[in-house]
Amino acid sequence: MRILITGAAGFLGSHLCDRFLREGHEVIGMDNFITGNPQNLAHLAADQNFSFIRHDVSNFIFVPKKVDAVLHFASPASPNPLSPYGYTNLPIQTMKAGALGTLNALGVAKANNARFLLASTSEIYGMPLEHPQKESYFGNVDTIGIRSVYDEAKRFAESLTMAYYRFHGVDTRIVRIFNTYGPRMHLDDGRVVPNFIQQALRKEPLTVYGDGQQTRSFCYVDDLIAGFQQLMATPDDFPGPMNLGNPNEFTIVELANRVLALTGSRSKLVFEPMPADDPRQRKPDIGLAKSMLGWEPKVQLDAGLTRTIEYFDGLISRGLA
Ligand code: NAD
Ligand code: UDP
Repeated sequence: MRILITGAAGFLGSHLCDRFLREGHEVIGMDNFITGNPQNLAHLAADQNFSFIRHDVSNFIFVPKKVDAVLHFASPASPNPLSPYGYTNLPIQTMKAGALGTLNALGVAKANNARFLLASTSEIYGMPLEHPQKESYFGNVDTIGIRSVYDEAKRFAESLTMAYYRFHGVDTRIVRIFNTYGPRMHLDDGRVVPNFIQQALRKEPLTVYGDGQQTRSFCYVDDLIAGFQQLMATPDDFPGPMNLGNPNEFTIVELANRVLALTGSRSKLVFEPMPADDPRQRKPDIGLAKSMLGWEPKVQLDAGLTRTIEYFDGLISRGLA
């Protein structure tokens, strides 16, 4: 298969490129580097099966060869307003990537009769009133809240994807990704795992927002990528949506303490104001992925954090961060 991956220079996109290349596919990566990092793809420079197009997906997408699948991952993804990569600091670009970018990527899939996968998000559930979140839950999003630029763009992207499925018969799949972490996240991304690891390694205080009793369920990147691979390989007509994530739920203080224990750091926790609209709890119901794909995460939090700490420690000790 020849696969177009948008957002290829990002955290998840670059792991997807590796995975599909390893399985013998040809991959065309596309990215405009707004939050991505060319270093994430540097190891693929000599790979004959990999090519790269620098392009903003909000503009018409031209692909020089026929593709069999389109994986649409291009979008800023961090909610942290303190990070230059946070989507609240890139509000128009985020809405354009979710709306125009999805339209253009679906257009490529339609023109090529290709299978399409949308990287959607648990954020479409907003401040959830149902716990854990099942795919049948419609969500609770403030349309004008600070996070709405991302949440509503992804909700629109889901609706547009379903319109292409129903009206044009495009073979689409929607995945709602829950908090995923691992090597190749940007150090300055601002999401909680890279923040805490970096702070612990640098012997700085770990910045816990609010009282730290809010919860998240953290999935290691390899588990998530395996889920994408399985979903793309299934021949069933299945537009989704499907939750993919790790259902083991932790408070943010528990996460901070795991990072301290695994790094051996003696950093303190400092409590800072809670960002607006920060969901109080989040945990996927993954019953659908289990029954349809036989998929469930295998990497426990300590094991995944250990691999991620090694990666960030390597960057910091080589002066690359
Ligand atoms: P990331 O920021 O590392 O990667 C996103 C990539 O998309 C970057 O390389 C960025 O440069 C690129 N991009 C953004 N706008 C673009 C545009 N207009 N044109 C071309 N490229 C563009 O973030 P990530 O965590 O790898 O997220 C990838 C996708 O997965 C996003 O769509 C995100 O919404 C979704 N997602 C991720 C998570 C997670 O936990 N990592 C959770 C839910 C959803
Ligand atoms: N958070 C934190 N300290 C940080 C960064 C994030 O306490 O330095 C909290 C944030 O307020 C949220 C949780 O960690 O409650 C997860 O945040 P993240 O940005 O990783 O993603 P989200 O799940 O909110 O999309």
